Amino acid sequence: MSNEQRITPRAEDFSAWYNDVIMRAELADYSPVRGCMVIRPRGFRIWELMQGALDAKFKETGHENAYFPLFIPESFLAREAEHVEGFAPQTAVVTRGGGKELEERLVVRPTSETIIYAMLAKWVQSYRDLPVLLNQWANIVRWEMRTRLFLRTTEFLWQEGHTAHATQEEAEQETLLILGLYRQFMEEWMALPVITGVKTESEKFAGAVRTYACEGLMQDNKALQAGTSHFLGQNFAKAFNAQYQTASGGLEYVWSTSWGVSTRLVGGLVMTHGDDVGLVCPPKLAPEQVVIVPIWKSGDEKDAVLRVARQVTAELQAAELRTTLDGRDSVKPGAKYYEWESRGVPVRLEIGPRDAEKQQAVLARRTGGKAPVPLAGITDVTSRALIEIQAGLLEAARVYREQNSVRGVTKDQLIELMDGPGGFAYGGFCGDVACEEAIKQRTKATIRALPDPEFQSDPAPTTCVWCGDKSVTEAVWARAY
Ligand SMILES: [Zn+2]
Repeated sequence: MSNEQRITPRAEDFSAWYNDVIMRAELADYSPVRGCMVIRPRGFRIWELMQGALDAKFKETGHENAYFPLFIPESFLAREAEHVEGFAPQTAVVTRGGGKELEERLVVRPTSETIIYAMLAKWVQSYRDLPVLLNQWANIVRWEMRTRLFLRTTEFLWQEGHTAHATQEEAEQETLLILGLYRQFMEEWMALPVITGVKTESEKFAGAVRTYACEGLMQDNKALQAGTSHFLGQNFAKAFNAQYQTASGGLEYVWSTSWGVSTRLVGGLVMTHGDDVGLVCPPKLAPEQVVIVPIWKSGDEKDAVLRVARQVTAELQAAELRTTLDGRDSVKPGAKYYEWESRGVPVRLEIGPRDAEKQQAVLARRTGGKAPVPLAGITDVTSRALIEIQAGLLEAARVYREQNSVRGVTKDQLIELMDGPGGFAYGGFCGDVACEEAIKQRTKATIRALPDPEFQSDPAPTTCVWCGDKSVTEAVWARAY
């Protein structure tokens, strides 16, 4: 794609903007296989950085990585009734292998609960074998009719955690531990503020007792479910006969959880921070944190600025700042600035002949602002700038979310909001699925979560937004990806 090609402004067409940003930053591309995308190196690097941070958190909390097969016997899926009902319409099924019709058809995993429980039934015999704390980094397939890069593709990458515990309390604690860990990652690494809460029956994971979620608000005022953590109770344990001998000699089914985040987070990052110039990458997840652009006219100048630029590059790299030197002869400085800005690099250091002479560089932030900084101590100054940019992005996203959240909405306000600007609408809910469905029909908004206490309104709503009956819980509505 040429540099001159324009990025559609967000206000003109958010969806076109999103695609333009991804293509320009070379994060991903459409593949010859319908519904599947190719993640390009720059996009995959962001995912790798996400993986690194999450994987460390999983391991710190006692989880181990394992790997289970891509194929699942079709009969496994059918053992948990809600699970098969939820996933069967989305599965891809292998019927032939090695040129022959298969005896049992194989489902390409849409998620791995069933095959993992079949194994746990074998591995867990006694309370001494518990808890089992597993995570798998894998690809999965869910047949999608309408797809969007990163947000909804037929095949995508994710991690799925699966744990088994001796008691209900332990499993519930695990579900909430992971929800908190996801939230921390989203806020600290992605600079994506999320609200957490529990899903309604109609929005929960197929086969779960309860689903908790992290929900972010994107710049088009649609919600993005960024991660989910499920308390599965004993549903899968019963379906796969995963029993253990208790300390007192009895037999009990294990209590379990599952939880996941996917490459959809890359799409969430784009939609939270990007602007009309292109990608804005939070420093902690930026493939390049710093780009150094030397500026010269004559050959003598070139030697002098390149010498300084190489020194600075080496110094920043030694401090483990992901730094790249753009010394290309064929591209003008202005074009380089634009290119790196559209790729979301948080900090640019410009070094011209006068800067080299004065032992300084000009530090430009992707989020705005530009000032000369001395080369002595450049590592500290740059590190500080990256920390400030990271914190500034989170704060800006939080302010945006709050400005686009309305509390205590009435029925008319909810309709008006969802037909108009969108955003998070907080209101009372009677708990009746009929109201939930009617709201969805009329406004295309769903209940994103019954918010956790920290996000609840004070005073609490007293009546249901839709029917006016007594409210049993507050709910947050939004149109969603
Ligand atoms: Zn109601």
